[in-house]
Amino acid sequence: MKYCPNCGKELKKDADICLNCGKIIREEKEEKVKPVNPNAKSKIVAGILGILLGCFGAHNFYLGYTGKAVAQLLMTLVSCFILSPISATWGLIEGILILVGNISKDASGRELVD
Ligand SMILES: [Zn+2]
Repeated sequence: MKYCPNCGKELKKDADICLNCGKIIREEKEEKVKPVNPNAKSKIVAGILGILLGCFGAHNFYLGYTGKAVAQLLMTLVSCFILSPISATWGLIEGILILVGNISKDASGRELVD
């Protein structure tokens, strides 16, 4: 059961307004909605992963870009690290792009947070 936050009278389940005192209930509900997506990935974490572990695709695994992540990981491992400077540079550049905001979304299209 729901009660009016203003006068304490019982409200209907989907009431937008308290019939007793005229308090608008819907506004109260919207104030409680958090603007930050709890599933949002951290820009800082993704950027640092790219810079430090980019040759393993760590930042792309983190952001859900699995195809790109596997490509970087395989390039490093299959070549026995001969090509790791290339995959590491690739990851480094992506890490920087993430930190400066050029890559601002994860694979599901969610904005990264600071
Ligand atoms: Zn009321």
